[in-house]
Amino acid sequence: MRYPAHLLKLIDVLKKLPGVGSKSAERFAFQLLLWSPDELEAMSSTIQEIPLRLKHCSDCGCLTGEEACSFCTPVREQSGLLCIVASPRDAFAIEATQEYKGLYHVLGGVLSPMDGFGSDMLTLEKLQERIKRLKINEIVIALDSTLEGDATSLYLKRELEPQKVHVTRLAFGLPMGSSLDYVDGGTLARAFSGRALF
Ligand SMILES: [Zn+2]
Repeated sequence: MRYPAHLLKLIDVLKKLPGVGSKSAERFAFQLLLWSPDELEAMSSTIQEIPLRLKHCSDCGCLTGEEACSFCTPVREQSGLLCIVASPRDAFAIEATQEYKGLYHVLGGVLSPMDGFGSDMLTLEKLQERIKRLKINEIVIALDSTLEGDATSLYLKRELEPQKVHVTRLAFGLPMGSSLDYVDGGTLARAFSGRALF
């Protein structure tokens, strides 16, 4: 017995979400069948309104609502600090730490030749322009500790050299509460090379 065509279509749509395989998509689809028409309407209109109500700031690339960008404030502009992140989500994660009070710049991704993401797709020109215009004196590179993140950080360091700006990168090391026995060799090596004064 095959599922009705629209149910198959719904399952296919749900499978596009990250981490959702066939089984989870089926579970979600059957759950949605229990919702009232009003609940389904509320969900579909919320999704439909995404392009209208959420946008990327034309300056920093972070996510904003219909109001002005909350990341590009005069106070932050005076900090002289600019943190480079791969996606808008990373900026929200850093904000949650309350450790950083500077500006952000969303690259839009990291270099990944396998996925066809090349240096021409990074928002580098905009970055160079912002560094000059906003008189940035320190750049904090906050990219993932992956092969692609490392390659992109090196690329940025090289590209930013003529700007005479101080470039730093987030330290990588031991996860909080971890025991040395359980940390992999790569993380331990990174923790050593990035050791700081105590
Ligand atoms: Zn902004």
